[in-house]
This record gives sequence, structure tokens and C-alpha cells, in this order.
Amino acid sequence: MTGNVILVGAGPGDPGLLTQKGRWALFQAETVVYDRLVSPAILALIPENAEKINVGKEAGHHPVPQDQINQILLDKALEGKRVVRLKGGDPFLFGRGGEELELLEAHGVPFQVVPGVTSALAAPAYAGIPVTHRDCCSSLHIITGHAKAGATTHIDYDALRRTGGTLVFLMGLSALESICQGLLDAGMEPDIPAAVVEKGSLPTQRKVISTLEKLPQMAAAAQLESPAIIVVGRVCALSDRFDWFDSLPLKGRTVVVTRPAGRSGTLSESLRRLGADVVEFPCIRTVPRNPCPELDGAIRRLDEYRWLVFTSPVGPKLLFERLLALGKDARALANVKLAAIGPKTAEALHPYGLRADLVPRTYDSDHLAQAMETVEGPVLLCRASEGSRALPEIFSKKGIPFLDVPCYDTVYETPDPAPVRALLEQPLLVTFTSASTVRGFVGSLPGADFSRVLGCCIGEKTAAEARKHGIPVMVAKEATMESLIECIKEV
Ligand code: SAH
Repeated sequence: MTGNVILVGAGPGDPGLLTQKGRWALFQAETVVYDRLVSPAILALIPENAEKINVGKEAGHHPVPQDQINQILLDKALEGKRVVRLKGGDPFLFGRGGEELELLEAHGVPFQVVPGVTSALAAPAYAGIPVTHRDCCSSLHIITGHAKAGATTHIDYDALRRTGGTLVFLMGLSALESICQGLLDAGMEPDIPAAVVEKGSLPTQRKVISTLEKLPQMAAAAQLESPAIIVVGRVCALSDRFDWFDSLPLKGRTVVVTRPAGRSGTLSESLRRLGADVVEFPCIRTVPRNPCPELDGAIRRLDEYRWLVFTSPVGPKLLFERLLALGKDARALANVKLAAIGPKTAEALHPYGLRADLVPRTYDSDHLAQAMETVEGPVLLCRASEGSRALPEIFSKKGIPFLDVPCYDTVYETPDPAPVRALLEQPLLVTFTSASTVRGFVGSLPGADFSRVLGCCIGEKTAAEARKHGIPVMVAKEATMESLIECIKEV
């Protein structure tokens, strides 16, 4: 059976600008054919088992020629695959999207198009430039500064000047000088505001705001590189006033997130929204023990316990999976009190209609242990295999009977260390949300110098582990993600 092709605009780089429909298309894809301009954070959304085909230009390599790309799309669809063709910005705006559909149409392959947020609008927006503004212009023109191979550009500068509108040039950086000269020769005023926005919407975005006359010289001085757009028009003068993106608290900072893949979502997203350049470096992974006869046994005897303790949001999820599998439900917990190490773990009980009876004031195992030193046992600990010793020690000391059930294991991952090694040359923020993330990080980078790292630690235990490895640290006031983010903002 023939598959299909969905042409998806990935937006200009900020993963938040991928549309909902684009995201859905990626989730269902079996083959994804993508370009150089698609950002890593969006590529990370491609399902693990989908085939990924990079047809973009890497430094030093030639891109796959257009007719071959067209052929790949056709072949994969004829193999019966659900194909996504992922392109930067909008696929139909200087994206050759139309060309890619021709062959599919000729062979009767079904296709759809998901528009994307174009860099022509997003890069100015992230640079504080509204492309139209009632006071200065009434039209917008998007022009390519690049000619088809072998041809010279035939831009009608005179016509552009007469529109009086905002001009946005794509693929124009290498021709910046001739574009500005063309407009000046056509009689445009030399002091009209103009801008270049490099890597628009990405955390590494840079911009140069100048005048038409001085823009080429200033852009050269700043060594701006592709991808970049050129904006010419009075609206560019608003850029400094509306400079929301460069003003974000973490703009210009690189933050490494070491949380397990899949659980780093909210931390990474929050940091990105604050302008940080987030590098995901998942060093650990939580693997549920399945089967887990010890947990099953404890569940069968739940009515013997007075307290049930969870030290991570994974705990309630695992317990309920087994509880339901054993033919029981939440009523099995009717007579047992629930303790959670922190608010996120307590929240993980809510979907099951349960509330935690005890959450320590400081969210770590020492404080949880202190808060439980007078409880009546027996206590059932439902937690990681390498959990802290604080709880078992205090229960033993106080003579409170307990059972420590290891429900999940923390497995160390070895992500590709090269990108992080390169970053260690400069001051670098690294978030640590548990002592195991510290061990995973250090273990992935043998022999590395951590003296320029600032470890942003969720709590004292984590910080102690980081110090052991010579990593300078700061510690969140409370052991929550929100507090960790606050602490990073204050660096
Ligand atoms: N279809 C794309 C444009 C493809 S042409 C879109 O709608 O955005 C490639 C050109 O797009 C680049 O040369 C550059 O001018 C522009 N471009 C793409 N991404 C950009 C970004 N993040 N910042 C600035 N310009 C970008």
C-alpha cells in the first residue's frame, strides 16, 4: 500500500514555534527527511524507531541535490511509509516545498502540507521588530537575495522603494552589500533604519540594528553568519524598545540539563522560555523493576502497614500499575498513611484520588526521615534501589519496623560527551537534580576539568556529591524545580 508524505514547516528554530499539527505529524512518522535548518530540539521529537534522513548541508559536505530529495520522498512513500518532510520555517516560503510535491502528485502519492512559522516573520519578532506598524508602513515584502544557480538576481529595487513598505530579504547575507547599494541607488534614504537578525528565535540569536547605508559595514564588523534575515524599514527603529528576547534573564547563557530523558521536559522548557541555550545531556535513566515480586508481595499485605513512603513521582505510578495488575484498586490504601518526599511526588498521588499525609518542610531524605522518626510502623518504602540511607537508619534507630522495597533502578547513561566537553572551556551552568545525575555527569566525562562549571543543585545532598568531584556549586533554597530555576536566574 502507498504511504503518504506530510510536508511540515518546523519554524525558525525555537522548538516552541513548531505547530501542534507539526508535532502530531512527527509523532506518527515512520520516516523523517529533514534539513540543516531544523533545530536539534525539534529533531529530538522524532520517534526513536523512525528512520531519519538528513538531506541538509553539513559544514564541508554538499547537500543532497533537490531531485534526489524528491526521489527519496517518492520511494519511501511507495514503500508504504508515513513520511514527514521537515523543513525550516514555512515549507512554501522559499522552501522548495512546491517542487517536492510535483513528483508525488505525478505518482498519485497522497500528501498534506503543515505550514510553519516563517523566519521572515519570527526573526524580526524575536528582535523586537514588528514588520508592520501603523505609523510607518502599510505593506511587507519578502524577497530572496539568492538567485537560482547560474543566474543573477533581478531585484527591482526601484519598485521596492516605491512601495514604502518593510522589506525582508532571505538568503541575502552574502549579497548584503549589493542589496543595500541597490536600494540606495534606487533613491532610498541612507538613514532609513535597517537590521540583520542572525539565528532568529534561537538562544544564540544576534542582531545588528543600523541604517541602510551603514548596515553592511556593521554586519561585517559583527561577523554575522547565515542563517540571517535582512530587514529594511522604519520599523527597525523600534527594535531596542521592544527588545523582549535579548532581555530574558537567561539570554546568552548555556545550561546543561542532566535529568533523565523524558523527565527533563519541563525543566528544559522553563529554562528555554527564560532565554537559556539548553543542552540536554541525560546521564541517568529510571528503569522500573518488572517483574517486582517484592513489591507484589508487599501490595498483597498492604493492610499490615501504617505508612507508605514515596521518594519520587515514579513511585506512585509503579505502585498503582502493580496494584491494578493484582486486581486491587485505591481502596487497598484506605488504612495506610502516605508520605511524599516533596510536592511533585505528593502531586503524583492526585490522579489516584489520594493526598499525601506528610511532606517534609525541606524536600530531601534527611528531613523526611526526621519528620517520620515518631511515626507508628510498620512502614513500607517504595523507592529506588540505591536510595538514601537516612530513612532505614532512622527507622532502625527508633525501632520502627519497615520494609525497603526497591521498585526501580537508576541506570547511568553515556550520552555523546563531545558537545559538553567543548562547552567546559568556558563558564558553564549545569543543573543537577539528584546525586545520581552528578555521578552520571562526572562518569560521562572522564578526566574533564570542572573548574569552570557552576553546578546548580536541587539540594544539599546533590551539592555534597558535586563538591566531592571538584564542581563549584550553588544550591536551590527549596528542593523544587521552581526554586532551582529561581536560583539559576540569580546567577
Ligand atoms: N522556508 C524558510 C526559508 C528558507 S530559505 C522560512 O520560511 O523561514 C533559507 C533562509 O531563511 C536563510 O538563508 C535565512 O535568510 C532564512 N532563515 C531561516 N531560518 C532563519 C533563522 N532562524 N534566523 C534568520 N534567518 C533564517
